[in-house]
Amino acid sequence: MSYFPDRNGFYGRFGGAYIPEMLYPNIKRLSESYLKILESPSFQEEFDTLLRDYAGRPSPLYYASRLSQHYGASVYLKREDLNHTGSHKINNTIGQILMAKRLGLRRIIAETGAGQHGVATATVCALLGMECVVYMGELDTQRQAPNVERMKMLGAKVVPVTSGSKVLKDATNEALRDWIANPENTHYIIGSVVGPHPYPDMVARFQSVISAEIRQQLQNKTGKELPDLVVACVGGGSNAIGSFYHFLEAPEVRLIGVEAAGQGVSSGHSAATTALGRPGVLHGSMTLLMQDADGQIEEAHSISAGLDYPGIGPQHAHLFEVRRVQYANVTDEEALKAGLLLARIEGIIPALESAHALAHLSKLELSGSETVVVCVSGRGDKDMQTYLEYLGRLG
Ligand SMILES: *Cc1c(COP(=O)(O)O)cnc(C)c1O
Repeated sequence: MSYFPDRNGFYGRFGGAYIPEMLYPNIKRLSESYLKILESPSFQEEFDTLLRDYAGRPSPLYYASRLSQHYGASVYLKREDLNHTGSHKINNTIGQILMAKRLGLRRIIAETGAGQHGVATATVCALLGMECVVYMGELDTQRQAPNVERMKMLGAKVVPVTSGSKVLKDATNEALRDWIANPENTHYIIGSVVGPHPYPDMVARFQSVISAEIRQQLQNKTGKELPDLVVACVGGGSNAIGSFYHFLEAPEVRLIGVEAAGQGVSSGHSAATTALGRPGVLHGSMTLLMQDADGQIEEAHSISAGLDYPGIGPQHAHLFEVRRVQYANVTDEEALKAGLLLARIEGIIPALESAHALAHLSKLELSGSETVVVCVSGRGDKDMQTYLEYLGRLG
């Protein structure tokens, strides 16, 4: 059984490229060239150099001794929060901007919800002198004003989208319209392992640096390159796929993806796609989606903007179906508690997304001898307001 896509981008029954005919030329250009480019030594060297000297990789694998004591296992944190721009997203945007450059495309577009992917995209566009347009729902531009300011400071044009519910999915539609209208000079940087083939595979390969480093770092620290367990949060699923990638074919490594349960899986305010979803097509691929009886996509809810997505990438849908990865979910309240715990006993304020992965540790029965790696996908600066409200409630 394969955990990776076939030549048409299918992972079992999930994936593919369900796109309007107008997008065929763009997608065809990308799927015919991405592997050739990605595997060329000169691309590899340019990518590795920027990851090292610009993003600050390798990110540390930190043995969290007080957290380990708390949970009764050896807990290591993969510190993606220490990357330039504060999360794992920079790994993908560096990869895709170099891809665009090789394809001779000088104009970059992106969509963003919370603004993290928009900031990472604006950052690498400034770095390589490319024109950058970021589509963002008007509601999100108001909720995430500091990230809008960052993007502008970096020279990007931020376009507020006023159609539909004025949120992420509407911004995605607008970005696709732009791409159809400007096929000859534009690359669309998707921010997670979602979208039509080859995006899920391309983004997974860029993020796989996370698990490549974990293997090496564990080997150096413990003499064994395989942990017993890897835990990561899942929005679209890119930090999770990155953390799992080089362990997928080692069946002795248990892998857990943690989704946002919001106010509770059956509360109607949740983003727990594997628990609630059914197969359907969204943003160009067949995957698991939260939808009503008529197939209308349901609004996702999570306290963390990065997990607030009604689907998951097709590779995750497949890994769920073949049971290679276990999927769990964590409520808003549990995530806040875990974020505060990490701040208080390790001096690390995690992104609320990452706090979901950390919260899951309290639900596991760990033994003292187990080696657990948790991906801290990003830092919590952007979530301070939410954390402070929580602290206020605790009194
Ligand atoms: C965007 C984001 C996520 C969710 O995206 P994935 O593609 O699921 O990784 C998780 N954590 C942080 C810090 C993010 O910025």
